Amino acid sequence: MPSTTHAEWLSLAARLARPMHHLIDGRDEPGRGGSFPVVSPRDGQVFAEVSDGGPDEVDRAVAAARRAFDGGAWPRMSPAERGRVLQRFADLVEEHRSELAILISLEMGKPVTEATDIELRAVIHTLRYYGELADKLLDEAPHAGDDALALVTREPIGVVGAVVPWNFPLTLATWKIAPALAAGCTVVLKPSDQTPLSALRLGRLGSEAGLPDGVLNVVVGQGRAAGQALGLHPDVDVLAFTGSTAVGRHYLRYAADSNLKRVWLELGGKSPNIVLPDTPDLDTAAATAAWGIFFNAGEMCTAPSRLLVHSSIADRVVDAVVERARTLRVGDPLDPVTEMGPVASARQLESVLDHITSAHRDGARLRTGGSALPDRGGFHLEPTVFDQVTPDMRLAREEVFGPVLAVLTFDTIEQAVALANDSDYGLAAGLWTADLSTAHRVARRLRAGTVWVNCYEEGGLNVPFGGYKQSGNGRDKSTHAFEKFTELKTTWIKL
Ligand code: NAP
Ligand code: MG
Repeated sequence: MPSTTHAEWLSLAARLARPMHHLIDGRDEPGRGGSFPVVSPRDGQVFAEVSDGGPDEVDRAVAAARRAFDGGAWPRMSPAERGRVLQRFADLVEEHRSELAILISLEMGKPVTEATDIELRAVIHTLRYYGELADKLLDEAPHAGDDALALVTREPIGVVGAVVPWNFPLTLATWKIAPALAAGCTVVLKPSDQTPLSALRLGRLGSEAGLPDGVLNVVVGQGRAAGQALGLHPDVDVLAFTGSTAVGRHYLRYAADSNLKRVWLELGGKSPNIVLPDTPDLDTAAATAAWGIFFNAGEMCTAPSRLLVHSSIADRVVDAVVERARTLRVGDPLDPVTEMGPVASARQLESVLDHITSAHRDGARLRTGGSALPDRGGFHLEPTVFDQVTPDMRLAREEVFGPVLAVLTFDTIEQAVALANDSDYGLAAGLWTADLSTAHRVARRLRAGTVWVNCYEEGGLNVPFGGYKQSGNGRDKSTHAFEKFTELKTTWIKL
């Protein structure tokens, strides 16, 4: 297939339909809350207006989801039929792949090529994976002696509230929606106010694929209004959240103040990437470290934002990362040659620049980058590397969520492990070594939900993903995701 040119992406973007309204009970609903503007980070311009949902719209969406769960066909149909609907959903996403990719790119600035090849591929794969699994879950019948029959059945939990951020807007939404729907739940999705259009389009494709009315609802609006209303709603059975640790705390409070709904949290990170001196291929380690922190403009919960490198090889590794940072093509996300787009919003740009200012103040050494690039037209930023970072500095402790790398050095494996674990977060870690025993020993000691050895950000849908410590609880992906959306029931029958 010939690849699409910059001019073609621009022309597709100009002609694109821009969904505006909530999806409630299978219908387009303007709601009563007026509308809010969506600003594209590629040029700082408003490119759409969408409905601004609040408690009223959330109420109606939850009521629709409740009806669809309590009396509707979805939880009652055969799991195989639910699986077929999810497969049709995947087919439709595949058909509309470019359109969804452009919406994401306009909304949050991800290069359109990455939206197409990485994000949409993940969305399609996730829908297919859970579609296939829908009829393959088995219940248990433990031995109960001659006089009884014990059944342990997994039942859909009910109405799911899903609240997600903007950095991988459809992947993270689908990681919740697909297992929830496969299990027989119904869903109200609240995407970020930065990325409402792609979520609305996804919801409508679900309806077209055959999801009955009310099974998948999308309410767009602000976290403090629509998000809070969903978190506090007495008729939501589980709240599955991906976002910052600060907002994750709010959802625990909302649950405590309402119906004790289950709350699952996928939160932030400050992931260490440890390079030991026996690393088999230092060039690959350095290239991967650079790719990892600059991919998606560093707006990755798993970004390897702390490079922990042995002092004997630090110069070589860091020089290579700095070189890569300097040659990275930063520009219009709709231009297929762009390797790094803008950060997602003016607020995000300001927040990343604030971290850069405090890194200077704390005495870290700037190796490259460090400034905004206003001449590129949007919220662009230079890929940035600081070395001579110490563990007490803000840059070593707080999530930046931008293209800013902190380099720390160590002399022993003990020091590396201590540095790696010296964090409130525990989402992911990288480890580079040629020694199999070292790899296993160190990986066991790292307090992180995922440890990548001699690679980063790899792996399939069949492995779980989630955090230790303040990076959250519960797991997305794999069959373990069903634990979020199901209850276990014991039925004990005396014979
Ligand atoms: P965020 O500010 O926490 O927002 C996440 C979601 O929560 C959005 O839909 C947001 O709505 C909503 N929200 C914000 N304030 C709220 C409030 N007071 N009450 C209820 N809901 C509220 O995070 P973000 O800036 O969008 O995304 C970046 C964060 O997500 C980073 O910390 C990153 O590490 C984390 N993340 C984690 C994972 C993971 O799987 N562990 C993956 C990706 C991202 P509005 O934005 O519309 O107001
Ligand atoms: Mg936000």
